[in-house]
Amino acid sequence: MKTILAGFVSLVVLAWGLSLAAHGAGPGTLPWVAREQALLLSGLLSIGLMSLAMVLATRPVWLERPFGGMDRVYRAHKWAGILAGGFAALHWLVKESGGVIKALVGKAGRPPKAEYFGVLENLRDAAEELGEFVVYLLLAMVLLALWKRFPYKYWRHLHRAMPALYLMLAFHGAVLAPLWWWGTPAGVALGVMLGSAAVAAGLSLAGRIGRGRQVAGEVLAVNRLSPEVTEVICQLSADWPGHRAGQFAWVTFERLEGAHPFTIASADGGDRRVTFLIKALGDYTRSLPQRLAVGQPVSVEGPYGRFELGRHDRRARQVWVAGGIGVTPFLAWLGALRADPVSAPEADLHYCTRQRTGDPFVARLQALCADLPGVRLHVHDSGAEGPPCAEMLGLSAGGRAEVWFCGPQGLADHLRAGLARIGLRRLSFHREAFEMR
Ligand SMILES: Cc1cc2nc3c(=O)[nH]c(=O)nc-3n(C[C@H](O)[C@H](O)[C@H](O)COP(=O)(O)OP(=O)(O)OC[C@H]3O[C@@H](n4cnc5c(N)ncnc54)[C@H](O)[C@@H]3O)c2cc1C
Repeated sequence: MKTILAGFVSLVVLAWGLSLAAHGAGPGTLPWVAREQALLLSGLLSIGLMSLAMVLATRPVWLERPFGGMDRVYRAHKWAGILAGGFAALHWLVKESGGVIKALVGKAGRPPKAEYFGVLENLRDAAEELGEFVVYLLLAMVLLALWKRFPYKYWRHLHRAMPALYLMLAFHGAVLAPLWWWGTPAGVALGVMLGSAAVAAGLSLAGRIGRGRQVAGEVLAVNRLSPEVTEVICQLSADWPGHRAGQFAWVTFERLEGAHPFTIASADGGDRRVTFLIKALGDYTRSLPQRLAVGQPVSVEGPYGRFELGRHDRRARQVWVAGGIGVTPFLAWLGALRADPVSAPEADLHYCTRQRTGDPFVARLQALCADLPGVRLHVHDSGAEGPPCAEMLGLSAGGRAEVWFCGPQGLADHLRAGLARIGLRRLSFHREAFEMR
């Protein structure tokens, strides 16, 4: 993700640089010309990253492969938005620096302002004012995105305003971009970014994102596996395309609440029946068992994601690590492998639980692994043994391993740091992110 975002920023800078090289910086002294170019570059970067965030928000399945799954697409969406906010703040600061430059070197040497008349002049005035207003709103959104304690349920509704904010920003960018830009790489890049993201914003405002992948169904069974975990089995309509083990879906049990992402914890049996194992991790999921009833309609959008067994590297030692509810994709994997045990790779499955006694998944994992001799199950009870660590994975220096991890971010970071210390010859670490914000 970092490489893709860095590549995108580099391309935008390149487009700006090529335009500057082709057109020249124009008249003026260095501080004023530098301010002018910094204003253009920061603006182009901000609108470019915001456009990228808009396009990524449309859940483009064709980008799952380069990004490594829809969870990563959403993380890139988040960071593109945050970076866009950063560059917007910089753009605003550069604009405000005019007063300082004037005080230091005087007004002489300032590039002459392009003159516009009539409607165009009015449009430019409106675009300038709107731009400043949108920058403040954008920064407020970025702060809320980073402030994890702000409840997701409120954040989600506020976030719905983003396409409208984007369209205002696009208006600001399109009207205030210098006219000479439009025939140069920067103008072409700006046109492509504004055009594609305006379509994305339109789709979002019309509520059409993901529509083509939404399938109706009904709740077949609701089982309380423990006070914290509920199993929901759904029967989907004939439109469901099927899924690969490890994929997830956006599930809507109630229209007012909207969709929540959950891993499909069952293998595809060809009967369009899918199982979700839902842990009470927040307000809605806590109240879910009381809200669900057999026969209730459900809408499932998907499948998405690339946390798939089919992608495993046959030459590397397979280490699968599940933390708590992060066991769901592995349950689907094991279910799929049971249908074809011969194809099962040799693997060590580490399940980390806070307390083995009363854990709803231990017996289920044991039953599934019993038919798969190649898959060795290790249960780590952090209540009794202390927190999980990289050493428990049984890897040694010089080896080649592929780790598939699903669980809390803190555990993933801890294991990665520990694995780096072990000194493996080659390590691939795949992680399914259960958090999109
Ligand atoms: C790819 C993926 C797969 C997941 N699979 C499972 C699973 O198999 N079982 C399971 O129990 N949980 C799973 N989750 C987590 C689950 O989506 C959240 O726990 C649930 O949405 C929390 O909702 P809440 O309103 O109860 O909690 P809140 O307190 O409102 O939110 C807690 C956190 O959940 C996330 N979240 C909440 N609502 C949404 C939403 N509509 N869209 C995206 N993220 C949201 C946010 O990161 C938020 O900070 C998965 C998440 C992702 C991204």
